[in-house]
Amino acid sequence: MRQTGRGSGEPGATGTLPERGRAVARTDLAGFGLVDDGPDADLDHIVRTAAHLTACKKAFITFAQGEVLHVLAAVGSDTVQTPAATSVCGTAYRNGAPLIVTDLSTDPRFSALPHVDVANGHRFYAGFPIRLNDGHAIGTLCVIDQAVRPEGLTPDEHALLESLTALTVRVLEGRQRDARWRDYLDIASDWIWEQDEEFRFSYISRSSIGMPSGEMLGTTRWDAPSAATEGPAFWARHKALLEAHEPFRDLRYRWLDGDTERVTMISGKPVFAQDGAFLGYRGTARDVTEEERTRREVEHMAHHDALTGVANRTTFEARIADAFRAWEETGATATVFLLDIDHFKRVNDTYGHSTGDDLLVEVARRLTECTGPEAVVARLGGDEFAVLDPSLSRGGAVDEYAAMLLQAIARPFEAQHDVIECGSCLGIAVLPDDGGSFSQIMGNVDLALYEAKARGRGRSMAFQPRMRRQADSRNTLARELSEAFLAGQFDLTYQPIVRLADQRIVGAEALLRWNHPERGRLLPSAFLAALDSGRHSVDVGYWVLETACRAALPWVEARKRDFRLSVNLFTGQVRDPRLVNRVQAILDKTGFRGANLELEVTEDVLLTPLGDLPEVLKALKRLGISVALDDFGTGFGSLNHLLQFAIDRIKVDRQFVRGLGNSIDHNTVTHAIVKLAVDLGLKVTAEGIETDEQQHFLSLVGCDDMQGFHFSRPVSAEQFPRLMEKTDALITRRHTGAPMPHANTG
Ligand code: GH3
Ligand code: MG
Repeated sequence: MRQTGRGSGEPGATGTLPERGRAVARTDLAGFGLVDDGPDADLDHIVRTAAHLTACKKAFITFAQGEVLHVLAAVGSDTVQTPAATSVCGTAYRNGAPLIVTDLSTDPRFSALPHVDVANGHRFYAGFPIRLNDGHAIGTLCVIDQAVRPEGLTPDEHALLESLTALTVRVLEGRQRDARWRDYLDIASDWIWEQDEEFRFSYISRSSIGMPSGEMLGTTRWDAPSAATEGPAFWARHKALLEAHEPFRDLRYRWLDGDTERVTMISGKPVFAQDGAFLGYRGTARDVTEEERTRREVEHMAHHDALTGVANRTTFEARIADAFRAWEETGATATVFLLDIDHFKRVNDTYGHSTGDDLLVEVARRLTECTGPEAVVARLGGDEFAVLDPSLSRGGAVDEYAAMLLQAIARPFEAQHDVIECGSCLGIAVLPDDGGSFSQIMGNVDLALYEAKARGRGRSMAFQPRMRRQADSRNTLARELSEAFLAGQFDLTYQPIVRLADQRIVGAEALLRWNHPERGRLLPSAFLAALDSGRHSVDVGYWVLETACRAALPWVEARKRDFRLSVNLFTGQVRDPRLVNRVQAILDKTGFRGANLELEVTEDVLLTPLGDLPEVLKALKRLGISVALDDFGTGFGSLNHLLQFAIDRIKVDRQFVRGLGNSIDHNTVTHAIVKLAVDLGLKVTAEGIETDEQQHFLSLVGCDDMQGFHFSRPVSAEQFPRLMEKTDALITRRHTGAPMPHANTG
């Protein structure tokens, strides 16, 4: 504000301090925009008019802030402030009413105040509080003369000073409004602009980011060199709207700030004169570059796979929808390929998850590289990728295309320290023939992929309608199996296990049967795969175990504990974290001894993610239970499993036994398998023995036990003791020299 320093001749007076008056506003110069603004022409004009028309030598406008009254404008004095508590003006300010002092030198209220300087012309005083519309006083307007005026102010002078006070209030309120507005524009993210009738900027409230407002004044938005980004068509549309004098909201446009692209969002409305003449536009603008960037990122994330950057399932679904629309419009078909990496879990297990990730990124890159620009490559999840190519339809080209995709993945991958080779399988479906909706086409291409996997790795299969029929019947079967279990349609039969050395029955394998209400008694081959992957497999598995343990308890006793009950575990049980506890509970409940129990697992089950499986098998062993590997020789990595899982026994699969005697190869392989097991200290059971020759061969190569029709078909729990007695009788007869007929004749 004006000068600093304390001058003489303040509009002050002393005396007994006047009583406190009405409320005064807590005001601030900054709030009225009165800081560092230089002389205020309007207020100067007011004080000069006041002094002139009342013929006073001095006039002041003061503004209260804290304990002082600041002089905003003055005539005949260079005073900058006076104390509010001990000045005449302070009294007028606090009382909130006009104060007329005819002679300061004689008025006892003021004559002794330190600033009342009679020698310096302080005799007559008239002060008017400046009060805002809400009634609060914020300062004073006063005049001071060197001559005593016994009659005070004339009515005209009084009226004049009142008017000038009111005018001061108007001026200060205007200043306050301006200050508020300036503050708002400073902190607001929007700025304000005005354009003339030719749409040239006539006002911009502050510089927009990177674009000095001065540069824009006098020019239109589209003429600014920075506006070239949007191109003429965009601006032509905007111009047409302006020429139609239409309001607009949230129009976003891009422009170049040096090398950086920015986005501004504008809203505006036309301004008209009272007579309706168009004056131009007024509106707001906001920099939305960051907002736009975030929006684009979020949009990208919503439509792309975070790891590989290719399209995600959502986008793929949208593109399939596009392909269906295109077919409706033009009859063009499109081909969908669904690709899943073979044994990808092994890559993770062997090289680590992060190398697995790198491989997925590379797969996405190769697929994108080898497909055309029209194709969409998407990662649907895990190691599953899809390709949609609208430019392909059924025929030779599809097979070549599929081979190209498989080859792209089959090329070795260079990892940090390793070269990884992995293949993939591919399902193929053509829309709309192979599915009339996204879910149908994806369901069917998945069946084709499933079949490709089932037939071995590294191959492709095109969808065929029979796959759907088979899948539907699998689903029906799964539903029926759930109902069958709840309805008690399962029961068990027991196939005797015979010791080759003495021909005695030393065990039984519990086998599941399904008494189907329509199809009769079904063997596991008709339903086991569906049951194993269904949701009841775990419950069925424990039911089998408990039922078999109860049934076999007397057989164990009859054999003086030289008896082994074999029960198969379902995949779900092997993965069940409560396996050991539940087996223990069944042993406790039935009184069956762990030492007489053998649990069978298949190699495929061992191939599922290991987790704690070796630990689980060890825990079973602590219960005395032994573990047998079923269907030995038909799976993968057999030797590794034998060592890793501390298996007790292997069961030689019936497919090897069946070939014995017919083929040298089968004899050799079976011999090798049995020898391997014996060398590793394992027991060996051969399954599916049907002939004397097979039995003879197996006993020669060192097989311990056998199962098969040659000895006995599976029998019910009720028949089993009789079978044992009968066999024992036969053995006794043999020892006494009598001929020995087969047990299964009975
Ligand atoms: P298959 O030969 O039958 O295809 O078996 P697979 O071992 O390839 O396993 P499958 O396709 O059934 O499952 C894919 C596996 O990929 C499951 C999971 O362990 C792994 N996986 C899923 N998502 C990611 C991922 O984002 N990164 C990595 N590194 N691995 C993943
Ligand atoms: Mg896979």
